[in-house]
Amino acid sequence: MSSDIKRKVVLITGAGSGIGRATAIKLHVLGAILAITDRDIFGTQETYRLCGGKPHYWGVLDVTNKDDISIRIAEIVSRFEHIDHVFNCAGINPTTYALTDTSDEYFDSLMNVNVKGVYNITKETILYMAKGVGSYVNVSSICGLRPKNGFAIYCATKYAIIGFSKSMALELGPMGIRTNVVAPGYIDTPTNAAVVEGQEAVKAMVDATSLGRMGTAEEVADVVVFLMSKEARYMNGSVVEIDGGIKLI
Ligand code: NAP
Repeated sequence: MSSDIKRKVVLITGAGSGIGRATAIKLHVLGAILAITDRDIFGTQETYRLCGGKPHYWGVLDVTNKDDISIRIAEIVSRFEHIDHVFNCAGINPTTYALTDTSDEYFDSLMNVNVKGVYNITKETILYMAKGVGSYVNVSSICGLRPKNGFAIYCATKYAIIGFSKSMALELGPMGIRTNVVAPGYIDTPTNAAVVEGQEAVKAMVDATSLGRMGTAEEVADVVVFLMSKEARYMNGSVVEIDGGIKLI
């Protein structure tokens, strides 16, 4: 993988678990300087520890909390002067929820974290992004590309991320800041719906992939880091599916 990631400053939200943590570890191994953030202090500190501590930064940041965001971004910029890449990874993975059972609170929580959280972080960081080499990677899902029964609100948030990110790509492209999207399929993280629901649900997910297994957080991290790297320098507004071939079945 590209050596141009070395010493690049990368902000990750939702870095305290799953895909965000795996991406932080990969970037650390490649020599990036990380701003590791999550709303969960223990997860954030554990990722910081797994990445070897200094020179990285860690901070508690809830992407729905404007105060958290302005304080943390100010700390990050005062320490590293700029940001090269942002991985907007914080998100809520829900389990199956029929529309007859969902509440306004549930709708608001998914929208606030999965959509408005990405908007909040993007808006606060744009001015500090490195022009010419900078990029955003946002996280959609296969649920942002096709409907899934029992996941209407989650699908709405992940479809929204694709529209938002493609518009970011148009608007920020002329500044030399790229925006791309990863759309993971069934990834084995603690909050994946099937992992939460149990063995039967996991088997159904596995059976739906042509590779016959769930993906790992590291397999998503590999693509995220590629999208940040100079090898992806002509990619802007792309949506990369990482799903073991779900669409083929
Ligand atoms: P994960 O292991 O649960 O990690 C998500 C992290 O984000 C958690 O540490 C969580 O903290 C944090 N978070 C949640 N709300 C936050 C907020 N308001 N502010 C800051 N941090 C917040 O989940 P994951 O599977 O790695 O998911 C990462 C992203 O990938 C999400 O956007 C998810 O929708 C997407 N995705 C996942 C899959 C999959 O199969 N796993 C598939 C497609 C897309 P708490 O523990 O406190 O909630």
